[in-house]
Amino acid sequence: MNKIFQLLLILLFFFINSSSVISDIYTEEDWELWRETYKDVKVKSTVKGWFLPFKTKDRKDIKTIDIISTFGSPRLSYVKGHFHTGIDMIPKKRNRDEYIYVYPVADGSVCSIHLTHPHKTIVIKHRLKDGTILFTSYKHLFEIYPEKGDRVNVQTRLGRLYTREEALKLGGRYDHLHLEIRKKFDDYGAASWTTMSRTNLNKRFYDPWKFIKEKLKQKK
Ligand SMILES: [Zn+2]
Repeated sequence: MNKIFQLLLILLFFFINSSSVISDIYTEEDWELWRETYKDVKVKSTVKGWFLPFKTKDRKDIKTIDIISTFGSPRLSYVKGHFHTGIDMIPKKRNRDEYIYVYPVADGSVCSIHLTHPHKTIVIKHRLKDGTILFTSYKHLFEIYPEKGDRVNVQTRLGRLYTREEALKLGGRYDHLHLEIRKKFDDYGAASWTTMSRTNLNKRFYDPWKFIKEKLKQKK
């Protein structure tokens, strides 16, 4: 009996450790702990145009996408009361295999890959024509293909989403893309679950829906 109890304790220990990878990042003071996942890449190519992150029929047509959760809504999970720093989206026709892959919304370089299942995230640094630096972040990827430092363009496969079945196995609805458009990345990604005020939300993030809708209208 004692042996079984010991075994259960060991299993519990591993379960807690593997499922709490982000448990040490609660507040802004903790952000430095996340710095090692960041690579300060130089972005050589400037952004030429903006596209939707899925290869739907028309990557400029916003109607090919469903938004399942909006920017700025309060979250009860993990750090309770943090604001949703991105939008959750899926392509409308999910039965087509190709739509499960995620692509950059603009050209740039990979500056961070962080977290593990089911929050695996890749971040791209972009340089606009006027020199402005922006970041886009793609979360809940089942697999990630590029490496930190890689140059990527709008045709590069970044990763793929969870299928509904894979997401359910992890006990959650992670079969969507969480997309962020960021003004800054001084938090190394941790502001995604530690942003507790509207001021900080707007300091660091754009509303991706508003942002991308505006950009998709631009010709090239
Ligand atoms: Zn989200």
